[in-house]
Amino acid sequence: MTQLGRVYDLQSLFERLNRLYFDSTLKIEIAWSSREPTKARRSAILGFYCPTRKKITISKRLDRIDVPLFFVEHVLFHEMLHHVFPAEKHRMHTEKFKSFERLHPDYQLAKDWEKKSSSVLMGTRQKSLPFLNV
Ligand SMILES: [Zn+2]
Repeated sequence: MTQLGRVYDLQSLFERLNRLYFDSTLKIEIAWSSREPTKARRSAILGFYCPTRKKITISKRLDRIDVPLFFVEHVLFHEMLHHVFPAEKHRMHTEKFKSFERLHPDYQLAKDWEKKSSSVLMGTRQKSLPFLNV
């Protein structure tokens, strides 16, 4: 079971968001990344959606007690929107995408937390490392 992490159960988070925002219509596979994060990497890919496999992969970095639930949900929701709003003319995050993303009640909370918590996410004491939420 790759959806069951140590802290968060991705499948049930996905089902909740799917029910609340999409009438449970999205058919996507969800998994934690299989690789353990390495400290050497200079950026943190927190989530990834593969359109050909219809699969969302969420970084194991987020499966930690010091990462709040609203943030994991925010990253998962973002990736679900990549399924709903495909890239247009090489733009990944269209206006439609961004306005839908802001519908999540914890959007601003998650953005603020991301800004001040890079050291938690990267597992280092370094600050201001770039994030790639692709
Ligand atoms: Zn994105």
